[in-house]
Amino acid sequence: MTARTWIGTGGYVFFLVAAAVIAASIGGSIERTLIVFFISLIAVLGMGVYSGNSGILSFGHLAFMGIAAYLSGILTMPVAMKKVTLANAPDFLANAHLNFFSATVVTVIFVMLVALVVGIVISRLDGSSATIATLGLLVIVHGVIIGARDITRGSQSFFGVPRWTDITVAAGCAVLAIVIARLFKDSVFGLKLRASRDDQLAAGAMGVNVRMQRLISWVISAGLVAIAGVLLGHFLGAFSVKKFYFVDTFALLAMLIVGGMATVSGALAGAVLITLVSELLRRIEGGIDVFGFQTPTLFGTTQIGIGLIILLVMYKKAGGLLDRLEWDEILLPRLAGRQTGPAASVVEAPVVALEGTLEAREITKAFDGLVALDKVSLSLKSGEIVGLIGPNGSGKTTLLNVLSGMLPETSGKSFIDGADVTGTPAYRLGGMGVSRTFQNIRLFSSMSVRQNVSVSALDKWPLTKGRAAGAIVDLALQTMKLTEVSEVQASTLSYGDQRRVEVARALALNPRFLFLDEPAAGMNREETDALLEDLKGLRERFGMGILIVDHDLPLIMKLCDRVVVLNEGHVIAEGAPQSVQKDPQVIEAYLGKKGSRQVAEILTE
Ligand code: ADP
Ligand code: MG
Repeated sequence: MTARTWIGTGGYVFFLVAAAVIAASIGGSIERTLIVFFISLIAVLGMGVYSGNSGILSFGHLAFMGIAAYLSGILTMPVAMKKVTLANAPDFLANAHLNFFSATVVTVIFVMLVALVVGIVISRLDGSSATIATLGLLVIVHGVIIGARDITRGSQSFFGVPRWTDITVAAGCAVLAIVIARLFKDSVFGLKLRASRDDQLAAGAMGVNVRMQRLISWVISAGLVAIAGVLLGHFLGAFSVKKFYFVDTFALLAMLIVGGMATVSGALAGAVLITLVSELLRRIEGGIDVFGFQTPTLFGTTQIGIGLIILLVMYKKAGGLLDRLEWDEILLPRLAGRQTGPAASVVEAPVVALEGTLEAREITKAFDGLVALDKVSLSLKSGEIVGLIGPNGSGKTTLLNVLSGMLPETSGKSFIDGADVTGTPAYRLGGMGVSRTFQNIRLFSSMSVRQNVSVSALDKWPLTKGRAAGAIVDLALQTMKLTEVSEVQASTLSYGDQRRVEVARALALNPRFLFLDEPAAGMNREETDALLEDLKGLRERFGMGILIVDHDLPLIMKLCDRVVVLNEGHVIAEGAPQSVQKDPQVIEAYLGKKGSRQVAEILTE
């Protein structure tokens, strides 16, 4: 957590408490409106914990809200009342009578368990498939509530729930929700999940178990939405299943999207705006008095108005009003986002990687008919720099993709220290010390340079390694000379600097085997020479094995101990740089027979 997190959180809490105090002192309909606002806010914040951080929209969260409203209602309803309203309820529910607090705890735990089961499936789906699955969840739970007549009264009104939600309870829960939402967002979990939102593949390569991160956020978000459900049930006292279906899903999504779902401030702003506009439109809908004239009743004004607001905001600003910035990032831009705690800027003694060997044996990779790799074998020891060269389309990137677990091989095996790691997913290979950069830069574009690098440095369990991670991030930034720009948004940097961020991010995984896919592409001679020195330094300092793909032959020749040449998926030469560059087959592969003499001259310059 950073100082920024706490200041940002403090701001929201101040706002919510102030609003509650003012509304409570005015009382009446203002107070009721604010209670409804707080409940909506909790639901929106809950949805945002999942959707905002993962980038996957959910239509299903009102199912959790519904389950929570009914279950907590049954648990708190007096037994005598249940004898009348729910005469056929099973004994353990008919006889249960919990206080508000216990009922809330039981309900939230139950909903989180349901979410865990559903989430195991949903977290495996990507993008719109996941969204459709959440829609399915909403429809199924709606059906189940109607079907379970004995405990829900089906589609009839469910009544007799004690009205325990007052402004204090609602405000208290809203404060709790907003603190959880922001802390989650700025936590290791939030950072990793947002990295997967920006680039799922790159996140995997940096050791992020995307499914696990999605599942964690899904369960937490269901818990928050469950609190909103409990509060709503105990505010209304009587409700029906309609309250947890499409119309309200739409209203909550509007709040989430209009403010900007990527931020907590966006959820808050959206909730405020949509609540105010709905209140206003509802009055107009019922007919108002304008200079003595009574306007007619206009059914549907509220829905249409909210729909238009969504359209307008999406048209003008697709990321929502606040886009990707929290209020504190807009108003206090200078506040750095670095970790609190002792400064980790004094770089420790070099971390020398453990000895090890990575080995690919007869790897074949076919894309439909095209054989991109044909029985390619290659080994990389720690402390060794191996160049992988070959014409465009010869299979270099494909080999890196297979070895880093991002593409399954068609046949062949790979080993780390002699152990078979064939088919191991990318995030796990990341944990085993395989790290990489990408030919087409794949940074987490909405994040700062420091955050990009942190994604791979941070351990799964934030409390154990937080401080050590800070030191690793500083070391990686310093090594790639990025300390100056560490707070800058990564996607705004120059091409060459973005490539350096890619290397720094890969370094922060503390790799034993580092794959660099065309790190010098787009760099001028000067930048390339600087990169050469930095890469040489990496080996000396960290002792990892480096497998580097690049078209810049002077760089390869000066840097590598050994060079492997691929052509059309075959290894056509392998050996010391001097011997490889004189190999007639290599020269021919590069420019065909005709140009080969000229190339030979250039290569042996
Ligand atoms: P290099 O990195 O050496 O330029 P690649 O490994 O990117 O070459 O590509 C090798 C061959 O495999 C090319 O013919 C390319 O079109 C093909 N290829 C690479 N990735 C895919 C993919 N995901 N689907 C289909 N064909 C692919
Ligand atoms: Mg390539």
